[in-house]
Amino acid sequence: MNNPAFLVTETGVIVVDPGSSVQTGEMVLRQIRKVTDKPLLAVLNTHVHGDHWLGNQAMVAAAPEVPIYAHPKMLEQVARGAGEEWVQRMMNATNGATAGTVPRGPTIALEGGETLSLGGLTFKTHYYPHVHTTTDLMFEVPEFGALFLGDNACNRRIVRMDDGSFRGSIEALNGVQGVVTARVLIPGHGLTGGWQIVDNYRGYLSGVYEGVAGLYEEGLSDFEMKPRIAERLSRFKDWPGFEEELGKHISLAYLEVEAGAF
Ligand SMILES: [Zn+2]
Repeated sequence: MNNPAFLVTETGVIVVDPGSSVQTGEMVLRQIRKVTDKPLLAVLNTHVHGDHWLGNQAMVAAAPEVPIYAHPKMLEQVARGAGEEWVQRMMNATNGATAGTVPRGPTIALEGGETLSLGGLTFKTHYYPHVHTTTDLMFEVPEFGALFLGDNACNRRIVRMDDGSFRGSIEALNGVQGVVTARVLIPGHGLTGGWQIVDNYRGYLSGVYEGVAGLYEEGLSDFEMKPRIAERLSRFKDWPGFEEELGKHISLAYLEVEAGAF
C-alpha cells in the first residue's frame, strides 16, 4: 500500500513508515536483511494513518528498544485508539490477511523543526499544522538530497483527505518547496521522483479547491459541482483514487470554502 523505506548508515538502519501490517513489516525486515545485518537504530512515522505504521510491530519484535519517532498529535491519536481503528480497516481491506497485527505506536514526539542525527545521517523535520492530517511530519535527509513527503503529496494517485485540509495542504507544499533543496522526493504512495510530484499534486488540490470556490460563488451545491470539476481536472482522471475520492474531496473543499466565507 504505502512506500516503506530504509536507510543504511555506518552504524545501523533507519526505517521510514514500515508498512500497513505486521506481515508487511516482516517483509520490510526481510528486504533489509538482504542488504545488511546492521541493527535497527530508529523508526520514523510520517503520520497517523495505519497503512504507514502498523508495520512498527515487526520492528519492535526485532528490536524491542528501537525508538519510534512521530508528531505528538499522532501519539495522542494513537493513545485514543486510532491504531485499533486502522487494524480493523486493514482487516476489511485485505479479507483478514493482516490478522495478528496490533498497534505499536510511536514512542518519541517530534514537533517539527528539529534536526536529528541518526547513525551519522541528518534528519530535518518539517511540520505544518493541517495538511493530509494534523500529524504529518516530512523528513529531509540532506546527505541524500532526499525528502520524505508522507501523504502530503502522492505520485500519480489521489489519496483520501478525510482528515486533511485543502488550503493547509497547498500552503504546506508551497512552504516546503521554498525551504528544502532535495532532488529526490519520496511520496507516501507512488513512485519516487522530483519536485514534479509536488507540482502535480498541488495542481490537483488547488484545482479542487479553486473549482469549488468559483462554483460556490455561482451558488452551486457540491453535487452539482462534480461534473464541472471533473472536467476541469480531466488530466488526473486516470490516476487511481480519482473516481473514488473526487466526490468526497469536493464535499470537504466545499466545507472549507464555506467556513472561509464567514
Ligand atoms: Zn495517509
